[in-house]
Amino acid sequence: MSDCLFCKIVSGDIPSSKVYEDENVFAFNDISPMAKNHWLFIHKEHTKNANEMANENPEHLLDIFKAISVVTSDHGVVENGYRVITNCGPDAGQTVFHTHFHVLSGEKLAGFGAK
Ligand code: AMP
Ligand code: ZN
Repeated sequence: MSDCLFCKIVSGDIPSSKVYEDENVFAFNDISPMAKNHWLFIHKEHTKNANEMANENPEHLLDIFKAISVVTSDHGVVENGYRVITNCGPDAGQTVFHTHFHVLSGEKLAGFGAK
């Protein structure tokens, strides 16, 4: 998608702080971190949200979660734990419409579920 921010990050047209890359997946530091480690995992092939990915390219979910497993293991955060979030649609506050998974770690995270 020519005017998608995260497609431009994958292509290198917009700079990012890369933490991981393989043939399918790209991960980088969130520009506005909500935890000590705040990484965004995206597939190189554009879909707009998790439902579109699950319906049109379900294998992309495996690619993403395998990459999350590699990066969290490499950073030694698996034992203490980490959180994966995907915001899908306006009520969730999705602002970038290229499917992405936030991975938060490196500190005790605030309780989840407050409105
Ligand atoms: P969401 O609100 O779930 O759509 O998340 C979009 C995320 O992208 C936010 O956490 C932003 O801080 C992050 N973000 C926006 N632009 C950039 C950028 N150029 N580099 C890294 N992260 C970004
Ligand atoms: Zn895109």
